[in-house]
Amino acid sequence: MSKFYIVATPIGNMGDITLRAIETLKNVDLILCEDTRETHKILEKYGISTPTMSYPSDDVVRKNSRQSNKFDKIFELLEEGKDLALVSDAGTPTISDPGAMLVSKIKEKFNLTPSPLSLSRRGVGGEVSVIPIPGPSAVIAALSASGLPTHEFTFLGFLPHKKGRETLFKEIVESERTMVFYESPHRILKTLEALVKFCPDKKVCVARELTKIYEEFKTGTPSEILYYLVQNPVKQKGEFTVIVAW
Ligand code: SAM
Repeated sequence: MSKFYIVATPIGNMGDITLRAIETLKNVDLILCEDTRETHKILEKYGISTPTMSYPSDDVVRKNSRQSNKFDKIFELLEEGKDLALVSDAGTPTISDPGAMLVSKIKEKFNLTPSPLSLSRRGVGGEVSVIPIPGPSAVIAALSASGLPTHEFTFLGFLPHKKGRETLFKEIVESERTMVFYESPHRILKTLEALVKFCPDKKVCVARELTKIYEEFKTGTPSEILYYLVQNPVKQKGEFTVIVAW
């Protein structure tokens, strides 16, 4: 039986990788990467010489069906009994990252999607197991140290830029759960401005550069955080995860 591992890798600090992730990456026949150059930084650090191959992102496959040939290559390898690992550039693959379509196609192809009549999570195919190797993910790291309520939360991924954006902010205002989303440095001020407009009294935590040298958690009302970032332009750089308390 071949194994298809979903392997989480660091979101900044290269030490944040599990022993099981290293063992898995060493032992599989091939590592499927979002960007092979990014993955090689980790492989070099941990002395891993497993071959790598890039896999097409969901968007690329949707736009260019020829790219789906790469899926066929992956299916062939699994049929030959090879073990594969899927990684993204950082964090957990498929979580606001490419790979979800590939995992879905593998489950479809090898009949791993549980039917309502089957109690087995592994499905009826039995030729391939899809196995998560858990580890870093920015959403969980941010929530864990935010000090905001985490017993229930909704993860929104990246907010849409145009269509549906306003509706989503309304959802955030009305939510009775903590809401978490990813934001880029180019849009962080715009997003905070929207939070000032839609939910000026909510408590917000902006987690920046998690696990890296300039890691920072800033908590306050949207206008307090906006003011802080406007006053400190250098703090507008880097990677952001935003949490809005319910
Ligand atoms: N799959 C990844 C995960 O599990 O964390 C997320 C990938 S998504 C393409 C990248 C986004 O995650 C960034 O734009 C940022 O919003 C968030 N992110 C990733 N690393 C982060 C970090 N070190 N600190 C804060 N947010 C981070």
